[in-house]
Order: sequence, then structure tokens, then C-alpha cells
Amino acid sequence: MRLATREELLLFHDPSYIETLELFGNMGTAFSARFGLDTDECPIFPGVDKYASYPVGGTIDAVMGVADGEFEDAVSFLGGFHHAMESQAGGFCYYNDIVIALKKYQQKYPEKRVLYLDTDAHHGDGVQHAFYHDPKVLTISLHELSMGFYPGSGRAEEVGIGEGKGYSVNIPLPPLTDDVEWWRAFEDVVVPIWLAYKPDFVFWEVGADGYMNDPLTDLMLTYDTYQRMSKTVRQLVHLGTRKLVVTGGGGYNAVAAAKIWTILLADIADIALPPTIPAEWIELCHKHGFQVKRGGWTSRPFRMPSDQYPKIRRAVDDTIEKVKELVFPTFGLEDQI
Ligand SMILES: [Zn+2]
Repeated sequence: MRLATREELLLFHDPSYIETLELFGNMGTAFSARFGLDTDECPIFPGVDKYASYPVGGTIDAVMGVADGEFEDAVSFLGGFHHAMESQAGGFCYYNDIVIALKKYQQKYPEKRVLYLDTDAHHGDGVQHAFYHDPKVLTISLHELSMGFYPGSGRAEEVGIGEGKGYSVNIPLPPLTDDVEWWRAFEDVVVPIWLAYKPDFVFWEVGADGYMNDPLTDLMLTYDTYQRMSKTVRQLVHLGTRKLVVTGGGGYNAVAAAKIWTILLADIADIALPPTIPAEWIELCHKHGFQVKRGGWTSRPFRMPSDQYPKIRRAVDDTIEKVKELVFPTFGLEDQI
């Protein structure tokens, strides 16, 4: 892991924003509100600029290493700060490692097509915004969208502008969306677009915060879905150019996030996990005040309350239908609407 250089940060961020963050590392809070800083989610503290810069260096090295063929695929769990804008911090994000790394990729490989897949429970607004006009970076975000839910964007109608029209795909899902409904949206919308677009490079922001017990979100995904996501993404990547970078993103149930990263890393590295979590690991969690109630890699079975089910299913149906109508023609998929 290394710090990003000033030149790299400038690929996306405003110089005055970078300078303000650097100054905050040592001193006061002048101009903080203007840049979304000094809030509960994006506090300032000594060294905040370095805290924000390390994941950028890591994600750039992951992307360029895979792009250049130095390694087959790469995982950077600390990365995935998808909410940061040019001169605005938000949602625990200061610098947008994803945008910076993909801009650097585009400098070297301007003709290549990138797919940015965001399965974090929150909309990938910063990345969408950075490439809203660009057909060479297709952004697909599946996320919760409900009243007051952060960041509030990510409606199906946000499809990109100019040449980028059709290349921003948003799949908003209602609270309580479970595995079954989530996969319906993924298979009906994401898979056909992916196959039609044929990306040269895939960047996946996972987000462990879609997990059923995450304290900040209302999606109801289980460990099985994360396992299946990993397998599905890898299969799709292997049908193409086999270039994949994975970043962690959100995840506010610490034990669930750790389990999900472990499941993903084991799958990507082709390592079989032991049937239960090692005792030392459980002890370590307890020492830090985290409860581990289940030692295996599966979640408690979840059934959506039957009175909610028709409403959720209808909302997911509406989303699928709307997204297909709005973006399928861009990919020549009119016959599948
Ligand atoms: Zn999130």
C-alpha cells in the first residue's frame, strides 16, 4: 500500500479540496462545511489526508497491475470510496479511489471499455457522476433506495448524458429486498447488459452492507448471496478478458463484513474455507467486543414477512421493467424488453 501522488489525486479531485484536506491533517477546520468535511461521517483528524490517500494508492496499483498483466486479478478491501466527489467528501469517503484509478487506466488504455459494477447497498453516486458522459465506462449500481436513505440518488431514470446516455444503469431496490429478489434483478438486467457490452476490464465494488444485519441499511442479503455473487462475477469475467479488480466498500456489521471479505477472498484465490471459523478468530472478536453467534459461513434462514412480499416483488418488477425500457436499446437488447 502506498500514498497516491498529487498528480494522481488531481485526475479527479479539485486542487483546493486536496489542499484543504492536507491542511486539516495538521490544523483547524476552516472551509470544512464547503467541502463536506468535519461531519459525523467525514470527520477531520490529524493525518486525514494520508488516511484518505492510502486506499487510492492501493486501488491504482490493483487496477494498473491487472491492466498491465502483472497479476490476474486483485482485491483491495480498503478501497471502494464510491461517494467522494471532485470537491466534496460524503458517506465516509474523502478521495474517490475508484474514479482516480479508472481515470489512470483510461490514460493508458483510452480505447478500452470498463464495466464498473457496484453491489454496495448505497448508490455509487461519485463514480456515476465522474463518468456520466462517458460510454467507455459503464456504471451499474444495485442499491437500496428509500425515503431519506443515503445518498438519495440512483433512480432508474439516471441513465447518463450525451454520448454516455444509456451507460449509467441504476437498479434501485426497496427495503427488505431479499436474496431471491436481488438475484432476479441481477439476472434480468445486469447479465444481459454485461454480455452485450463485452467489457475489457471489470471493476467491482462489493459492499458488505447489503447483508441482512447491517445497522445502516435495510437489504436482507445472506452470506450465500455474497458467495454466489463472487462466483457469478468471476464466471462473467472469465467469459471475457479476465481482468477483474475487487474493492470492499461499505459494511457496518464488523463481523459480517469480515466474514464476507473472507468468503470473497477465498473464492477468488480458490482456497477452501474450513467448515467453521477458527476458534482464535472468534476469541479475537470477543476481545474487541464483537459477538460471533454462528461459527459457520451461512446465515440464519430468512423469510420475508408474507404481508410485505407482494409489495416488494411488485417494486422490484417495476424497477426491472423500467431499467430495461430505459437502457436495453443502448445495448441492442430491444427484443428482451
Ligand atoms: Zn454502502
